[in-house]
Amino acid sequence: MAVLPAGDRDELQRRRLRDADRLYHLHSFTDHRGLAESGAFIVERAQGCRIEGEGGVVLLDAVAGLGCVNVGYGRTEIAQAAAAAMERLAYYHTFQAVTNPEAAALAERIATLAPGALERVFFANSGSEANETIVKLVRAYWRAKGKPGRRTIIARDYGYHGSTLYTAGLTGLPYMHAAFGLPLDDVAHIAAPYWYRHGGDLAPEDFGRAAAAALARKIEELGPENVAAFIAEPIQVTAGAIIPPESYWPEIVRICRESGILLIADEVVTGFGRTGVWFAQSHYGFEADLMTCAKGLASAYIPIAAAVASEEVADVVLSEEGPFQHGFTTSGHPVACAVALKNIEIIEREGLVAAAAARGRYLAQRLATFVDHPLVGEVRSMGLIAGIELVRDKATREQYPLEAGVCSQVANACLMRGIIVRPTGNSLVLCPPFIISEAEIDIIVTALGEALDEVARALGA
Ligand code: PLP
Repeated sequence: MAVLPAGDRDELQRRRLRDADRLYHLHSFTDHRGLAESGAFIVERAQGCRIEGEGGVVLLDAVAGLGCVNVGYGRTEIAQAAAAAMERLAYYHTFQAVTNPEAAALAERIATLAPGALERVFFANSGSEANETIVKLVRAYWRAKGKPGRRTIIARDYGYHGSTLYTAGLTGLPYMHAAFGLPLDDVAHIAAPYWYRHGGDLAPEDFGRAAAAALARKIEELGPENVAAFIAEPIQVTAGAIIPPESYWPEIVRICRESGILLIADEVVTGFGRTGVWFAQSHYGFEADLMTCAKGLASAYIPIAAAVASEEVADVVLSEEGPFQHGFTTSGHPVACAVALKNIEIIEREGLVAAAAARGRYLAQRLATFVDHPLVGEVRSMGLIAGIELVRDKATREQYPLEAGVCSQVANACLMRGIIVRPTGNSLVLCPPFIISEAEIDIIVTALGEALDEVARALGA
């Protein structure tokens, strides 16, 4: 029997896998017509800030997967923690009155790190599930308070809260609604504090206050007796790293407190250090009534998320007769909790929150030079989250039509230079692992500059 050389065998195996993927795998957020032609790119391994795909292609990941691999790839001690936990207790549920050592320890760890009175932790498997959990906690809270009419949750345009039915409805991106008849009932949206795009002639701080006033107006319009909560990401990362003016959050907090509605901070991306503090709420000086976190909790080494309620909210919900009828088979999974505990230990031991702040400052300083680039309208950043907004006309802030895919062209030009950045709308988002070095940031910024030049030349900008 003829034996193929090892290289050919690998290539054959890859082709088989690509065909299997094309035939059987339904991908997240993917145009399957395009996929059917090209097949998917197979990522095979990763280390530090770099991923390696088929054919030995190595790419510097300036987005940490999806803003989640905060401690970087290839941490052996996390793999060991998972293996040890799995060998000792592969699984047990946390329904009724059962727990496991890892779930108990992780709940305590989160309660200790989370702002203020955010102390009661419900485990889920994804950010979407954590936000779904929050919605049920909110409903149960108002029911227990004797105000079941308070059901509407106000969210924002450009917000992202997940892809389950309710959370996709909370999400303020029309393309998430169109095919599914969303949002479901009892969801309302207000404008986002997106100064560059919607600020007009207002100074950022005046715009921040005006954007917050939209919440007060919406509560009035709906009737305060019908409004349950306001949900928001401290920084809207998915839609292009939209960073609100400093005046925004204090006003939002005041309005929530005065109208008595609950405030939910979606810290799925920002939680666990990404903005250079443990939770972005601390940056803006507030404590929400409820919070979700996911990505940074275990640096996505394993699926795990948490919905965290304040003492007061949890006490009200749990004061009702009978159980809180909610939960997932794998809530508080011992292996997932062990991985999260190890991830948090690494963040603390290596001072990675401070590193995110320091590297973030360096990244901001390097990106600032792009402000004068003909394609760039605004550069914004906080910690290790950065957004570069592209523009056709700098004076009028006219955008390129989204169908022109200018942002994707720049991202592709970066890819050709070995760098992954994320195009979203008319912005490019960067959110690298916290272990990124200054030298790696230099590589990213150089590639990005060349990519911007290349696309500008092609557009005659
Ligand atoms: N909330 C925010 C702010 C997010 O960015 C995301 C995902 O990107 C989610 C919720 C949903 O998380 P998941 O994709 O884990 O369901």
